[in-house]
Amino acid sequence: MARSCSICIHHRRDSMDKLLLRGEHLNSVARRFSVSPDAVFRHRKHMQVVMAKSAAATVQKDVGYGSALLAEVARIRADAERVQVEYENRRDLRGALRAIETRLSVIELEARFTGQIEVKQKNEFHLHFTPDRALAVAEAYVARHGSEKPLPLLPPVPPLVELEEGE
Ligand SMILES: [Zn+2]
Repeated sequence: MARSCSICIHHRRDSMDKLLLRGEHLNSVARRFSVSPDAVFRHRKHMQVVMAKSAAATVQKDVGYGSALLAEVARIRADAERVQVEYENRRDLRGALRAIETRLSVIELEARFTGQIEVKQKNEFHLHFTPDRALAVAEAYVARHGSEKPLPLLPPVPPLVELEEGE
């Protein structure tokens, strides 16, 4: 509301606004309420401003709602990270691996909700480990993350196609 506007502070402003919103010509509104057409013309812009502000506020509310959801995901992710660190400190490799998997699923959840990946790609996003491979990944992970006495590195993964060893 503009203080300098005679229509904004007019006691019948709402009646004028309603007519203008219904498409009543500003000259006819001005005549009916004994105000100047120029004032009505200027006031129509004030109406547009407050409506735009209100629409923006509605959008802002949605943004707040959205960021609350993202904050919740961030809390879940932080929990998963904390659990992983606890398992690593206890050198519980299977527990650490489960925590890593939990973190992956949280990332997947977040990505799916924020549209970074399509739902149809869900299965491709999952990482499937055999138990042995999983343990190897966990051991390598713990080793990389600076335990005081690093675990021995695993032997290299044998090639997928075994070569004939004949002469
Ligand atoms: Zn006004």
